[in-house]
Amino acid sequence: MDYIIKNPNILTQCNAMDMLDSCMDDYLFIYDFAHDFFYISPSATRRFNLKSNRFNNIGDVFRTLVYPSDLQTLLENIAQIKNATNTSHDLRYRWLDKQGKPVWINCRGQVITEGEHSRYMIGCINEIGNQQFADNLSGLLGESSLRNYLKEFGADIPNGYLLRLGIDDFKSINENFGTEYGDQIIQETAKCISKCLHSEQHIYRMVADEFMIADFTGASVSDAAKLYQRIRREIDAFIDAIQYKVVFTISGGILEIDKEHNYSISNMIKLSEFSLNEAKRNGRNQFYSFLSEDYEEYIKQRDLEKILRKAVRNNYKGFEVYYQPLFYSDTQTLYGAEALLRFHCDKYGTVSPSKFIPALEDTGLIIPVGRWILHQALSACKSIQKWIPNFRISINVSYIQVMKSRIADEILLATRQYEVQPEHLVIELTESGILESNIHIKKMLLQIKETGILLALDDFGTGYSNFHYLYDLQPDIIKIDRSFTEKAMESEYEYNLLSLMSNLVHGLNLKMCVEGIETGEEEKRISQVDPDYNQGFYYGRPCNLEQFTKQFVTTGS
Ligand code: C2E
Ligand code: MG
Ligand code: MG
Repeated sequence: MDYIIKNPNILTQCNAMDMLDSCMDDYLFIYDFAHDFFYISPSATRRFNLKSNRFNNIGDVFRTLVYPSDLQTLLENIAQIKNATNTSHDLRYRWLDKQGKPVWINCRGQVITEGEHSRYMIGCINEIGNQQFADNLSGLLGESSLRNYLKEFGADIPNGYLLRLGIDDFKSINENFGTEYGDQIIQETAKCISKCLHSEQHIYRMVADEFMIADFTGASVSDAAKLYQRIRREIDAFIDAIQYKVVFTISGGILEIDKEHNYSISNMIKLSEFSLNEAKRNGRNQFYSFLSEDYEEYIKQRDLEKILRKAVRNNYKGFEVYYQPLFYSDTQTLYGAEALLRFHCDKYGTVSPSKFIPALEDTGLIIPVGRWILHQALSACKSIQKWIPNFRISINVSYIQVMKSRIADEILLATRQYEVQPEHLVIELTESGILESNIHIKKMLLQIKETGILLALDDFGTGYSNFHYLYDLQPDIIKIDRSFTEKAMESEYEYNLLSLMSNLVHGLNLKMCVEGIETGEEEKRISQVDPDYNQGFYYGRPCNLEQFTKQFVTTGS
């Protein structure tokens, strides 16, 4: 016994409370002021940073148990109770769990006095954070109940699956119809799902607009997929019944569980969340079944984001700008170069732009990195112009930069700083980004164009509403994507399409650049469609400034 207690009555009460421990989720406590003795239900020692559930000297113990910035308020409150200036205790504050993470608790106690002195405080502590056992809105059990259900199996979880369902774009239902109607949709969705389940399939409501179905009856992924389709049909029928007042879809993430898997409960919930997010990322209104390769890729991408962030902080260590030549297709002389970003790190070596550019965009790091490229590329352009005064530099600009930074001002300022004429700078925009365009993007681009800087529409032929952009953004140059060039080499139909495209572009008084020309034969066929500029491995691969200058700039002089 590592505590001192001089009052046998208290001990009896503590022993009685011990017996209640297994029947409740809350924690009972008694505090004896005179002997500075504290008792709490034994389960608290498994959850919180507490060595024992019976101890003296609460000041010392609370210093390691209570979230540091809440300690002062608590000690003051206890002091007031001890001095009998306060007879009840009702405080919401934070304790630390075993991992040192804060957990919100509500601590309520009644003080028992003897004469003018406070003798004991007896009460109850409950967690008020995210322990949702049940949800009154949907009438379903909550995440904590799911965890308890999974816990019941112990290490011996039978074969089955978790199917996590989420209403697509639920935010817009709330925005368009109000939150009350949104609540109603959650209730109706819960009903639709419940209708499709048999008695051994358990349903829980997770966060906001998400539900989880747990089926451990030996069912397979294809059973889960069938259930998802059945639920979808049920929801469609509901939408039909309310005469399309609101139209919505659901996505599903399936996590198969069998003997080979060794997931912890938290992992199962996390992986089901990943699966649902993948279904949504793939376009919503569909299901995705968990694949460890995809998850590893996702983890790698998050890891890459961390590495990129560190590289940006570390003065752009690992980033390098490569330059690929662009040639006039008639004279076959150098027109300029496209600046292409490269990234190298110890862990992954040289990383493909198709991996790190999206990571830079997702994290917003494309804004500082884009600024860095702008300066590198303009400085390179200025140095090359000593030999070729009309040399043009093309820079890829992501729509994130256009949306979230003052890109027009920055570009103009940088051209002045490096004394590069605006017409010697080409800003390349990819269609895929512009697809999400808005008035703001259009205004920024027009502002850039007014300065005399040229605008190129990159990756033309890979998106959907190409022609609309020709009118909307009024670019100066259209860059035909390599995938289009490749197809034109293989199919007569695509080749004719490219030829028609060229007529159209020239009819609008724009220039056309064909990307991805790899061989002399390709160059010959492409030149017949009359592009203005050519780019591709046939002319030169992207390389660093030193190599570029040696190979394309100073050789002729
Ligand atoms: P992009 O702007 O369309 O760049 C052309 C891509 O085609 C480059 O790929 C280039 O290396 C590749 N390419 C050029 N000629 C040939 C060829 O003959 N055959 C083949 N197979 N490929 C050729 P890279 O460097 O991997 O860049 C891929 C994409 O990443 C770029 O496509 C661009 O969208 C993006 N990107 C690259 N650098 C930057 C940057 O600095 N900022 C932004 N926002 N995006 C960038
Ligand atoms: Mg480009
Ligand atoms: Mg391109």
